[in-house]
Amino acid sequence: CKENRDRKYAMFNKNQNEDLINRIQIEKEIYQAIEDKTFTVYYQPKVDLDGNLVGAEALIRWFHRERGMVSPGQFIPISERNRSIIEIGKIVMEKTYSQIREWIDSGLEPVEISINVAPMQFSDRGFIDYIDELQNRYDIDPDLIEFEITETGIMENEKKTTEIMHLLIERGYSISIDDFGTGYSSLNKLKDYPVTTLKIDKSFIDPLPDNASSNIVKTIIELAHFLQYRVVAEGVEKEEQHLLLATLQCDMIQGYFFHKPMPSTHFVKLMKKPASA
Ligand code: C2E
Ligand code: CA
Ligand code: CA
Ligand code: CA
Repeated sequence: CKENRDRKYAMFNKNQNEDLINRIQIEKEIYQAIEDKTFTVYYQPKVDLDGNLVGAEALIRWFHRERGMVSPGQFIPISERNRSIIEIGKIVMEKTYSQIREWIDSGLEPVEISINVAPMQFSDRGFIDYIDELQNRYDIDPDLIEFEITETGIMENEKKTTEIMHLLIERGYSISIDDFGTGYSSLNKLKDYPVTTLKIDKSFIDPLPDNASSNIVKTIIELAHFLQYRVVAEGVEKEEQHLLLATLQCDMIQGYFFHKPMPSTHFVKLMKKPASA
């Protein structure tokens, strides 16, 4: 009946309004956080098949005074919509470069750190200039930095993204295709992207060691090695998953089974001092 429909509609509207108010509120707070630089970077270790530290992914964290930790899954999509991701991305890059400089200066031997980049950052003219500026300011070997861009992100603006990827590769940076398998890039395309690493999406790792998924993961690893890419499995939570990935000769593993994302103060304890020290 109409009354019922009206009530449902009013309820739908109420939820929708709450969502909107919530989003506008977060948006306002994002701008404040950018100004105050209240973002932090955590590092999630990547290990080789023996569990040795070989790299880490830089992951943004936002500790909000009242809300507590706001997950990136919540605010990154909002910041992509209002383009503040460009500023946030710069903060993450700046913090990561300066952190690596600090590690080196304190006598540690840093491993390669991957930085997530949203497709919109790649379409910003200033992106490469900013990287060069950080490189000059902190004097970091590009070998120590990798950029992660999602498969769908590359496809969104293929021409521009490929152009920027080439500029990064020329400078000696590595590039990883994140969430690999969730987009639909044809294999033909894949070999034209100037990338160095494939990162298999967690959704393929979760069901392991199930037979069907094992076959998919096996195929991805073989393909990656055929194209001379390194392969990372992400979201590894169980020993069986790790053992299977070892059998399949996956190069690197990232996931809670080995390490969760952690602040630099914890991460440094996993890093080596140079052999000469
Ligand atoms: P992502 O790039 O796919 O990053 C991996 C996410 O999976 C991280 O979530 C990580 O904490 C989580 N993860 C890793 N291993 C496991 C595991 O074994 N089990 C489970 N359940 N989760 C695992 P996080 O840090 O919440 O980040 C979520 C997403 O937010 C990232 O997904 C990325 O898309 C985005 N993001 C995070 N930091 C940045 C950043 O600095 N810049 C940009 N543009 N995006 C970022
Ligand atoms: Ca990532
Ligand atoms: Ca590298
Ligand atoms: Ca991912």
